[in-house]
Amino acid sequence: MIIQVKNFVSLDQATKLASENQSFCIQMDDKILLITGSGIKNVPNELEDVTDKFWVFPNDMQLASKVFNSAKRKIALANVEIGGDTKNTLLIGGPCSVESESQIRSSAELLKSLGLTTLRGGCFKPRTSPYSFQGMGLDGLKLLAQMREDYGLNVITEARDATHIHEIIEYTDVIQIGAKAMYDQGILRACAKTLKPVLIKRGFGTTLQEFVQAAEFVLSGGNPNVMLCERGLRTFETGTRFTLDLCGVAWLQEFTNLPIILDPSHAMGYAYGVPSLAKACVAMGIDGLLIETHPDPKVAKSDASQQLDYANFKDLFYSLKPVAESVGYKMV
Ligand code: PEP
Ligand code: MN
Repeated sequence: MIIQVKNFVSLDQATKLASENQSFCIQMDDKILLITGSGIKNVPNELEDVTDKFWVFPNDMQLASKVFNSAKRKIALANVEIGGDTKNTLLIGGPCSVESESQIRSSAELLKSLGLTTLRGGCFKPRTSPYSFQGMGLDGLKLLAQMREDYGLNVITEARDATHIHEIIEYTDVIQIGAKAMYDQGILRACAKTLKPVLIKRGFGTTLQEFVQAAEFVLSGGNPNVMLCERGLRTFETGTRFTLDLCGVAWLQEFTNLPIILDPSHAMGYAYGVPSLAKACVAMGIDGLLIETHPDPKVAKSDASQQLDYANFKDLFYSLKPVAESVGYKMV
C-alpha cells in the first residue's frame, strides 16, 4: 500500500510514523509517501487521521506501477532527457569493456561525430570465468570520467558488487546494475541513497515481477530515477546467446511507469543479428537502446562476437532514425 499523507504532516513526523509502521517514507515532488508491503489492504487505524490518499496493489509492484502513477517517469541525464513525454530513444554506445585510453577515446569520438550523447563501457566486469579479462577497474572509471569532461558525454558503467559502488556513483552519470548483479542488496540499497539515474538489467532467469521488485528497492529507498533494461533470457535455444523477451517489454510498457531500455547486443551474442533486432526494438517505441561497439571487435577483450565495428554502428544509427520517427520517437 502507498499512503500519501496530509500536507500538515512534516517529513520528520512522517519518517517517525514510517518507522513505527514498518514502512518506507519518501518525498516525491511536494508529496510525502509512506509505503508498506502490498499485503496491507486497509489504512492502519493509527494512520487514518494523517492519510490524504492511498493506493492498494495486488503485489509488491507499487511505486513502479501504473496503478500508482500512469505517467512514465522522466529521467534527466546531464545533456539529454528520456521518458516522460520526451519521446526520445537514447542510443547508448561504446565497448563492452574499457580497454585503453585510445580505444575509449575513439568510441567517444564516434558518438560525438554522430551527435549522440551517451557513452558506456565496463570497468568492473562480471565475468563467468576468473581467468577472463576482469576490466580496468578504477583506472577505467577515470578514463570514462575523462571522456565525459573532454567530449561532454554522459557516461555509464556497471557496478559488479558493492565494493566499488561509491566510486561508480562519483565518476558516472548513470549506474548500470548488470543481469548477474540485479539481486545484489548492497548495490540496490546504495543506489537508493543517491539521485543518480540507475539502469537495472533483467537477470537472464528473472521473472518480470522479480525484475520490477529490484527497481522497487531503489524507488522505495528514495531514488526515483530508475530505468529497466531487457537484455535477453536463457532459453533452450543455443543458436543465439540469449532470447530477447519483447513480450516482456510490452508487459513492462503496459504495467509500469519506468523508462525501458533494450539491449539486443547481449541478447543476440552475434553482431550479424544486432542491426535487425535493434530496429525491431526501436519500433516498439522505447526509451533507449544499448549497442556494443568496438574499433576492432575481433580483438575485443570481452564480448568480441557481438560488438559492431564503427562502420556498422554508423549504418545502424542512420537506419534507426526513420524507424524511431515512424513510431513518433527521435534517436538521441
Ligand atoms: C554488459 O552490459 O556488458 C554486461 C555484462 O551485460 P549483462 O549484465 O546484461 O550480462
Ligand atoms: Mn558486454
